[in-house]
Amino acid sequence: MLYNTNMNNKKVSLFDERDALLTEMASLRDLLNGSLVQRFSTCTRKKCACHTDTAKRHGPRLYLSRAKFEARL
Ligand SMILES: [Zn+2]
Repeated sequence: MLYNTNMNNKKVSLFDERDALLTEMASLRDLLNGSLVQRFSTCTRKKCACHTDTAKRHGPRLYLSRAKFEARL
């Protein structure tokens, strides 16, 4: 295949960029698929301030929901 100089430089640049991205991705093995959600909630004590004042709700509590991926062919 014949490339002119500009295309050749662009091709090399894209290969370099791909290699850099693959190297960066290899270091991300500890990532989890999902979402981290911060929530504030009310308790079961009826006289607690959390029921009348949203600023006094309990929390934050962190929840991690993990995504489930299925292969589609
Ligand atoms: Zn409460």
